[in-house]
Amino acid sequence: MSMPKTIPFLPRQAARAAPPLDVHRLRQDFPILLQRVHGKPLVYFDNAATTQKPRAVIDAVRHFYEADNANVHRAVHELSERATEDYEAARVKVQKFIGANCLREIIFTRGTTEAINLVAQSFGRANVRAGDEIVVTALEHHSNIVPWQMLCWEKKAHLRVVPITDSGELILEEYEKLLGPRTKLVAVAHVSNALGTVNPIEQIIDLAHRHGIPVLIDGAQAAPHLRLNVAALDCDFYAFSGHKIYGPTGIGVLYGKARHLELMPPWQGGGDMISSVSFEKTTWNELPYKFEAGTPSIAAAIGLCAALEYLDEVGLDALAAHEERLLAQATARVNDIRGVRIIGTARRKTGVLSFVVDDPPLAALDIGTRLNLEGIAVRTGHHCCQPLMDRFGLPGTVRASFAVYNTVEEVDVFAEALAKIVASGRGKPKVVGLPTTRVEPTYPAAAGASPEEVAAELVEAFDLMDDWNDRYQYLIELGERLPPMPAELKTEATRVKGCQSTVHMFARKKPGTADVLEFLADSDADIVRGELALLQKLFSGQRAQQVLDFDIHSLMQRLGLDSHLSLGRRNGLAEMIQRIRHFAGELAGQAREKP
Ligand code: PMP
Repeated sequence: MSMPKTIPFLPRQAARAAPPLDVHRLRQDFPILLQRVHGKPLVYFDNAATTQKPRAVIDAVRHFYEADNANVHRAVHELSERATEDYEAARVKVQKFIGANCLREIIFTRGTTEAINLVAQSFGRANVRAGDEIVVTALEHHSNIVPWQMLCWEKKAHLRVVPITDSGELILEEYEKLLGPRTKLVAVAHVSNALGTVNPIEQIIDLAHRHGIPVLIDGAQAAPHLRLNVAALDCDFYAFSGHKIYGPTGIGVLYGKARHLELMPPWQGGGDMISSVSFEKTTWNELPYKFEAGTPSIAAAIGLCAALEYLDEVGLDALAAHEERLLAQATARVNDIRGVRIIGTARRKTGVLSFVVDDPPLAALDIGTRLNLEGIAVRTGHHCCQPLMDRFGLPGTVRASFAVYNTVEEVDVFAEALAKIVASGRGKPKVVGLPTTRVEPTYPAAAGASPEEVAAELVEAFDLMDDWNDRYQYLIELGERLPPMPAELKTEATRVKGCQSTVHMFARKKPGTADVLEFLADSDADIVRGELALLQKLFSGQRAQQVLDFDIHSLMQRLGLDSHLSLGRRNGLAEMIQRIRHFAGELAGQAREKP
């Protein structure tokens, strides 16, 4: 197979030559951006997770439901005709936008994840045998790892992983060595969602094709930033999501070369994907419908079409140049903050800036929580790339990711807020557990006669504070007084799973009592230490049955913790509560057996 001769996406120089965008005018197209969060203008830097939607997209979806809503491909009536026409027009738009040769190659899915699963389950199950290999890379999103793992487990095949350098670039010599007669597919991200690295996919595709190996590109993070031409790229499959490219959720695209799609068996069965059905024999519909079982996301496809038209109007060259400026500015400003380390310094990147704070050591979760109080939305954690985080020896990073509507001023606001957070962490010695058991740890005694009594005090204290900033500060201060937890107690057994940060809890029966529970706890994140201190105040030193009888969920609601904590934090808190209740249950059971 030959190497594509045309340039498959926008070269950097062209991006630089593009005229500057009028971002302040363009922002008016995004109604959501006009709001304030915690009293500050919203700075939305979580675009790699999902982008905001321009009015054109919102209007297109609303118009569909107000004027044209009907099912597609099925009826002769007017509304169904219109719905079908608009849905198929979206396919035409996608085909043109990504430069596919024909409409049969454009399959609508729910998103990138579903598109990759479709290829794994259809192409993969038909072509992969025991002992075969699938090549992925160390920087893949879980969506481009787990579907292949599942396939490999089923087929007794093997996953091979291309390593990366410390700057987050693929090591192509190692990649080349992995390719061989057993390799059945290469699956690689165009752009890394956690580091922003733009992979040299032209070379990756060319090298694979020299061995006759097809290549799937996970384009979730590339389609919103780079001009695409899948035909010129010569990739075999390309997947992306509507919601990351200014379109609605629930819609994505799988591009596949027609000659592969023709041979692939259907994945899901149901309406629309068949040509005829009888109990004896069922035949498949033609492409692309063979892979679109059931009622598709019609309104979302129409919204995606509007998003792509919007991007055409903005101009991808201007968009790319603008985002490049934002990234350059953010990189320079963050590099200037002492103690901050950027993770992912590849030569070619799109608008993602991942970093950790080493000095003073600040947990990503705390930085994200503090930035949120300044109205700045960033992502913290492993970004669905746990193997990549392991490669860097990190539990997670803070990630700021940019889109066309972000401004240089917002980058400055973010950098200044970050610098303040880092500075305020400096000089505060962090208690990270006692080094040995020689010092007997102090378990917190009861803070009141019962959990109810302590809860009443907490409610009173929270009511005196009128904004969430003060409550947050109160929690942080509670956390600072958390009694130290000896390092020996921080084992796998005491680790609370399901939390975004590292959390340990160790509970025991208070010596000399029948059923009094006491516990030590610690976390690398200040906000979590605050939550742990709150739980300690409520429960440590109380009788097990009282702990079990206490309605913790009502208290969380009353304190506003259920609405002010993110879902991830609420889940983490729920895990910690579960730990305490589990231990209290065991203790109460033992006390009943041995009265
Ligand atoms: N791959 C990459 C590189 C991504 O960034 C994402 C989304 N974070 C996905 C795949 C999955 O996309 P979706 O959740 O829209 O299916």
